[in-house]
Amino acid sequence: VNRIWCERAWLGGDAVEAGVLIDVEGERIASVRSGVGEAPAGAVALPGYTLPGLANAHSHAFQRAFRGRTEAGGAAAGAGSFWTWREQMYEAAARLDPDGYRALARATFGEMALAGITAVGEFHYLHHDPDGRPYADPNEMGRAVIGAAAEAGIRITLLDTCYLRGGAGEELNAVQRRFSDGTASAWAERVDALAANLSERCVDSSGQGEDKGRSAEPSRLFSLPGGQKVGNARVGAAIHSVRAVDREAAAAVASWAAGRGAPLHAHVSEQPRENEECVAEHGMTPTALLAEVGALTGRFTAIHATHLTVADRRLLGDVAACCCLCPTTERDLADGIGGAAALRDAGASLAVGSDSQAVIDLFEEARAIELDERLASGERGRHSPAALLAAATASGHAAIGWPEAGAIAPGKLADLVSLDAGSVRLAGIEPGTALGTLAFAATAADVTNVFVGGVPIVRDGTHVSLDVSAELRAAIG
Ligand SMILES: [Zn+2]
Repeated sequence: VNRIWCERAWLGGDAVEAGVLIDVEGERIASVRSGVGEAPAGAVALPGYTLPGLANAHSHAFQRAFRGRTEAGGAAAGAGSFWTWREQMYEAAARLDPDGYRALARATFGEMALAGITAVGEFHYLHHDPDGRPYADPNEMGRAVIGAAAEAGIRITLLDTCYLRGGAGEELNAVQRRFSDGTASAWAERVDALAANLSERCVDSSGQGEDKGRSAEPSRLFSLPGGQKVGNARVGAAIHSVRAVDREAAAAVASWAAGRGAPLHAHVSEQPRENEECVAEHGMTPTALLAEVGALTGRFTAIHATHLTVADRRLLGDVAACCCLCPTTERDLADGIGGAAALRDAGASLAVGSDSQAVIDLFEEARAIELDERLASGERGRHSPAALLAAATASGHAAIGWPEAGAIAPGKLADLVSLDAGSVRLAGIEPGTALGTLAFAATAADVTNVFVGGVPIVRDGTHVSLDVSAELRAAIG
């Protein structure tokens, strides 16, 4: 569409604006004007409240298959932990082939679209066949995930993940063999082959929101087998964790990402045991090790960052790295509560992710940044509603290499999500305090319309091309 009129929209400040008229050229926002009383003829009118599209900065799409099962399983076992959950995750991971993965990921990304998510950072480590052998195309699984995002209509950064060992001095177990390329150089060779088909390379997001002239670049296309073309896909890198990648390999992945200006993500200090094992092996914390190998830059995102030292936070903050919290997963797995305010005060930015897909609702993730910290600290009000919404929008997009998305402003991508002000959860919302209501009470169920690059992917709460519930049932079944 070329023209969208929003009854009310959040343009990044501490309040919402009334009557916001957005002109769209191609997939970008050309101009934004507020105070336009009613929708001009020819404009698409969005009632309710409109936000920039949401960025899900950390996802493992396949984990949607065991939602609700593992949560209950921990209780039934009597002593469930992150580590018993991991065994259940491996069982699901062992069953997927490229077709099954594509169907499951498409349904999961469809659920994300319905939740207002317009871009996902998919932390992808299911590379090879169940015996650990590469498929005929070694990137068949990655292409399946990219194709799934295209079919669901959302943007994706495939964060291709290096995973080489079971732990310090430990071989890979039977399931983990699927994750491994054997060496970091084999990982790099495979990811380069994938990225070569993505003519639009991942971009440097270290400019902290500056677009650096990228807007002149046309969006180019990624070819899938069978001639299908998709846009909206980028490739980045991930170090699974310092458990799964040794020092030299972590350095090689960091150098790959630096050479390409690509986003680099890693699971960091989710569990105290991970810290203990790293100190035993390397004599330093995971964050310090990642700093030493050159991984920490403005393009780096630490996933979880739950159990950090003051020095760790300083290392992340000094380079303005991002920390992606996944509170619904972290509470499910009994990980603990990260120090989000301390990270922010140190200079890090904050993003959120649905991670294990325990729920897919970035409003819930974003408010948990504040609410979990209240439980831990006995204090309220460390994060403003605008800051929480920024974590789910602008900061999340920057973290996954889409700095030109996540804000309603000229030059930005026309990715938008609108919420129904008349839903039972939001009924009574007042413009003057709307940001607080949206941050603390909105849910994925309130999303009515979603646009990616000015193209509607969700209309009146329904996906334009997928029957998402039916696809989820079929894929999970
Ligand atoms: Zn994860």
